[in-house]
Formats: sequence, C-alpha cells, structure tokens
Amino acid sequence: MTVSPHFNFKQGVLHAEGVPLTLLADEFGTPLYVYSRQALNDAWQSYADAAAGRNVLVCFGMKANSNLAVLNEFRKLGAGFDIVSGGELARVMAVGADPAKIVFSGVGKQAWEMRAALDAGVKCFNVESEPELERLAQVAAEMGKVAPVSLRVNPDVDAQTHPYISTGLKENKFGIAIQDAPAVYARASAMPSLKVVGLDCHIGSQITQVSPYLDALDKLLVLVRTLQSQGIAIEHLDLGGGIGIRYTDETLLSPSALLNQVYARLHQEQLSDLQIVLEPGRSLVGNAGVLLTRVEYLKHTEARNFAIVDAAMNDLLRPTLYDAWHDVEPVQQPAESAQAQTYDVVGPICESGDWLAKARTLALKQGDLLAIMSAGAYAFTMASQYNTRPRPAEVMVDGTAFHVVRPREALADLFASERTL
Ligand SMILES: *Cc1c(COP(=O)(O)O)cnc(C)c1O
Repeated sequence: MTVSPHFNFKQGVLHAEGVPLTLLADEFGTPLYVYSRQALNDAWQSYADAAAGRNVLVCFGMKANSNLAVLNEFRKLGAGFDIVSGGELARVMAVGADPAKIVFSGVGKQAWEMRAALDAGVKCFNVESEPELERLAQVAAEMGKVAPVSLRVNPDVDAQTHPYISTGLKENKFGIAIQDAPAVYARASAMPSLKVVGLDCHIGSQITQVSPYLDALDKLLVLVRTLQSQGIAIEHLDLGGGIGIRYTDETLLSPSALLNQVYARLHQEQLSDLQIVLEPGRSLVGNAGVLLTRVEYLKHTEARNFAIVDAAMNDLLRPTLYDAWHDVEPVQQPAESAQAQTYDVVGPICESGDWLAKARTLALKQGDLLAIMSAGAYAFTMASQYNTRPRPAEVMVDGTAFHVVRPREALADLFASERTL
C-alpha cells in the first residue's frame, strides 16, 4: 500500500525509504521525527524543473523546518532562504548559506537583527511598515551601508485557506496596504541608505489554487507600472510561499502550474525580465517527515475512546493551533481480524487541547506504534518543552541508511541553565 512516495508499507510495516520505522523507534525511542532525504530532493526538484530556463530564485521559508541537516540539503541543491529572525540568520549561516540568496521577512525586525543581516550582506529586506523602513534606513546609515529593500505589500486577496494562515487580507497585520505603496516607495527611494530592489507579497499558506496568486500578481504588476512611471525600477518580484501539500485528499497546485501562469502574465505585460522570487516552506518539507509515537494506554469512556500516546501538543502543535488534520497510520498493519474502533488520539499533557487526531477508525492495542503523517513542516520547529518534556529526536533516512540529525534532549539539559535564588 502506498501512503506517500517516500513512506510505504513493505511486508505490512511502514518504511521511510528503505528503513522500517519499527527499527528507528526501537533504536531511538518515541516520540521521534523521521525525515526522508529523497523526499526533500524530490520536492526541491519540482521547483527546480519549474524554474528551469527562467530567472527564478527559490528561497526556502526555513521556519517550516530549520534543522541544520535540512538546511544543508537545500543549500547544496542551490536554494536561497527566507528568514524571519536573527536566529534563523545565524542558523542558516551555520551551514554556509550564500547571503546573496537570503531574503529577510517579518513584521517586527529589531535593530540588532537588521545589523546582523546587513553585516552578512543579505539580498533584500522585505519591509512591512513605514516605521520599519525608517529604522532600517537609520541602522544602515549608522553602519555606513546601503540596505536593499523590497516592500511587502498587502494585496487584499483571499487565499481561501485557514484564517490563521491567511496573511494577504487587509485586516491582517502583514504588509503595507497596496494603495499606500507608491508613497512609501517614493520615501524609500529618497533615503540615501536604502536601495529599492524589489516588490514582495506573501498571501498565506496551504494554498491549493492558482487564482489567489494570480489575483495578487495582477495587483502587483499594476504597482510595478506605477512605480516605473515614478522612476522607481523594480528588479525582482517576490510572490512569497504558500503552496499547499496533501495532508489527506487535497488537490494540489504544482510549482510549474504556478510559474507557467505567472510567466504567461509577465509576457503579456512585457515584464518577463523581472526576477521572480518564491519563498516556499511547507511544500518543500511537509510531506518529507512523520512523527512516530507509541500508544501508552487505550481508555474507553462513555462518550469516547481515547488512544493516549507518547507524543503531544508540545511535539506537534498544528492540530491544537489550527485544527489541522494529519493522517494517522499504524506502523504495523493490524491483523485482518483486529477490531477497529473510533479513537481520539491524544497526548499526556494537562490540556484538553492536547490532541493529535480526532475520530479516527483504528484497530489498536497498547504498545502499538503510530505514524503521524505529513509532519515535516511547522512540526519540530513549533515544538516546546511544555510539561518539562524533552523535544523529540530527529532522524534523516537516506535510502537504507539513517542519521540522527538532532538527538533527543536529555532531561537534565531542560533546566541546566536555570538558577535558584
Ligand atoms: C511562512 C512564510 C513563508 C513560507 O510559507 P509556506 O506556506 O510554508 O510556503 C514564506 N514567506 C513568508 C513571509 C512567510 O512568513
């Protein structure tokens, strides 16, 4: 049975590429994140194919999964990076990323973060407000540098996704209202310590249709023309991230479908010499990871059946935060005769919101190993130590080989830096 191209059942046991997940659970314990190196490569390849022969820079939205091993794979494949903090800058520089391919996004950049990015020499700051523009101009001037800027505009389009991951509507905190952009660009281009290089938007996440992108693009192209008439040249157009993945049965938008349509519009407008920047996060890593967890107890109450597992909301927050769906697969296929029941799969944390999956039909017994699928994006990066739980280990599978890319945190490490009075 095929679950995904890189996670498959062989002789009744779920494998990551050539490695049985039972083996990894025995070796490293649970909860455990497992990534497929081939899945990262294949996801990258679909962007590379779409970009071939075009002036496109793909910057991995690294907040989706910032493990150094993941970053290093993408660096070697030629990726740039979209960062949202000074911490992410330090992380990605630790694997030797090319700063000329780094774009710096985020609504709340602090002065130290701007200084670090200017020192590194990033490609561009995606500026989200006028006060941020003023601060950046001042920081750059103090350093005797010129900061490359792109304004993140809010095109006010509906990405038709979950409200928490929709970012391009006028009521969101993100970006500069598109109608205000010409005036802000005029201010930016008059500041000697700034250089206008681009125009940026990011309208949301887990987008499965091309129309929201094209709605945004049309508005951006009008703006590019307006700016040109003001004598402000735009070198690149950054369309953000947002392409969705298959969590269950979503129909997908491919990078090539998106770029083909984008380039059709650019040709029509005779703007195909613009560089296109994309900032995909989820679509590069989401289906490259699973979270392995073991059933600790089965609890049958009057209202519900609960499978209490050893992973929890601190390990995988998406269900709690976004009401997100992750498929749940028993790692060893149950016997034909096993009786399936409807279970809520929940963690041990003292919160009613601590659940991973609801109302799933599963044939379970205590000690069973489950794989929470599509857990490569916004999964480990959102993990916390709530309830003084060490964060899971992370393992990368490569064919029949596997590598620990982050060991499980030791209990003593969780409070090693704390001091009593
Ligand atoms: C989160 C984010 C991304 C990545 O989004 P995905 O939906 O994971 O592709 C890209 N750009 C910006 C500005 C972001 O905040």
